[in-house]
Amino acid sequence: MTRTVLKFGGTSVASPTALESVARIVGGLTGDRIVVVSATAGTTDALHMAAREAEEGHDASAERIMQNIAKAHANIVADLLGVDGAETLGQITDLTERTVALLRSVALLRECTARTLDAIVSYGEHVSAPIVAAMLQARGVKAEPLSAEGLVITDDAFGRASPLADETRARAQKTLVPRMKAGVVPVVTGYVASTADGVTTTLGRGGSDYSAAVLAAAVNADELRIYTDVSGVMSADPRIVSDAKPLAKMSYAEAAELAYFGARVIHPRTVLPAIEAHIPVRILNTFAPDDAGTTITADPVFDGSVVKATTSLGELGLITVQGAGMSGVPGFAARVFDTTAAEKVSVLMISQSSSENSICLVVPASSTDRLRTALERMFSAELRRHDVERVDVEAPVAIVAAVGEGMRGTPGVAARVFGALGRAKVNVIAIAQGSSELNISLVVHESDRDKAVRAIHEEFHRS
Ligand code: ADP
Ligand code: ASP
Ligand code: MG
Repeated sequence: MTRTVLKFGGTSVASPTALESVARIVGGLTGDRIVVVSATAGTTDALHMAAREAEEGHDASAERIMQNIAKAHANIVADLLGVDGAETLGQITDLTERTVALLRSVALLRECTARTLDAIVSYGEHVSAPIVAAMLQARGVKAEPLSAEGLVITDDAFGRASPLADETRARAQKTLVPRMKAGVVPVVTGYVASTADGVTTTLGRGGSDYSAAVLAAAVNADELRIYTDVSGVMSADPRIVSDAKPLAKMSYAEAAELAYFGARVIHPRTVLPAIEAHIPVRILNTFAPDDAGTTITADPVFDGSVVKATTSLGELGLITVQGAGMSGVPGFAARVFDTTAAEKVSVLMISQSSSENSICLVVPASSTDRLRTALERMFSAELRRHDVERVDVEAPVAIVAAVGEGMRGTPGVAARVFGALGRAKVNVIAIAQGSSELNISLVVHESDRDKAVRAIHEEFHRS
């Protein structure tokens, strides 16, 4: 008997049409099935906004946002299930009341801790799971909604928790396997998890894929299917490059690089638990379920291409610490990184000029000012002595990355990338090549981002 974990993303659960398709996909598959669901598209963003409003003391506005989210879900239930939806509507009401109560206490305290935020944003998946389960049930598939609290067990890094594989395996074997044996499809909340003693956590934005991969590994699934709104991983973000093509196969390493540099279609750490367990991961389209999609495997896939995909990540800032007095001074870079670590700023890309006169860091635009101040403090003595000339900020910028196993050992790839960008009149601010030779990434002005992606895509995918 085959065992499949199917994860449905935000747009796949957000409309009656999508949900009908979900029911056909799950119903059409034989063997053991576990369904993992995201919140409906936009809901997690709205919940974060409600929490922010509450934190600023705007409780009425936070409640309004909640009521709108609840209404949208109730409408879906009414559309799909009619009078049979009464129980699900009741569940939505209970969850809404609980979340409104949380928001009220946030508004009173004017403080929303990471732990409280997780409890609030878990609403999204907690309402979508009962809707999907009720829909499956109504279309003849025995299904039961389950919260991943007490099932996917994590550390207590709220907002970005890491699953604990052994704990999760034990719970999954106990909760999920007997249900599947009884012919029931568990419909599990993605993104949401809990600590071993039951405190709600979340796995980071886009984390439902991660939930699905962890569960696939925990139940020794034969396949993990990630259903979304595109027919697989494409050679570029289809919103930027209209003729981007789906890729039939890619390696985990390529997928991870793509995800790291902004291809939202899969989440960086997400599919690793499945890959490590040698479970093939397929990215498929809920709205075109017969399309071949993309299969991601552990081994490199050489298909004759050089650059397999081009991706980009925006809303970043470039910080340059510059000073002739720092060349050859041991510990200079270490102090730069001590500062980023102390400020808890994640660094996406580093490049150091060979003269050692400068170190460039690419960081989220939202943390550039804070980091600049901290670096100026760290190097205040050097700045006074002019050993460090200045700490420069350039923002907004974007990273554009060309990714592919075929780049390894192929000469002239960088030259083609720069040639294409030159012809498109894109000014490259900084470059870095991953030591894996799997990617070349460059920093460009945010305003040049789409143009740069199109130019590189055109260069390597011209048929
Ligand atoms: P879901 O809610 O199903 O998880 P996401 O919005 O997280 O869906 O991811 C799917 C989206 O990722 C697509 O709609 C597409 O716009 C975007 N995307 C970005 N880069 C790529 C790429 N290289 N290939 C496919 N999709 C991409
Ligand atoms: N709902 C969560 C988010 O929007 C998780 C997910 O969709 O994967 O980030
Ligand atoms: Mg996603």
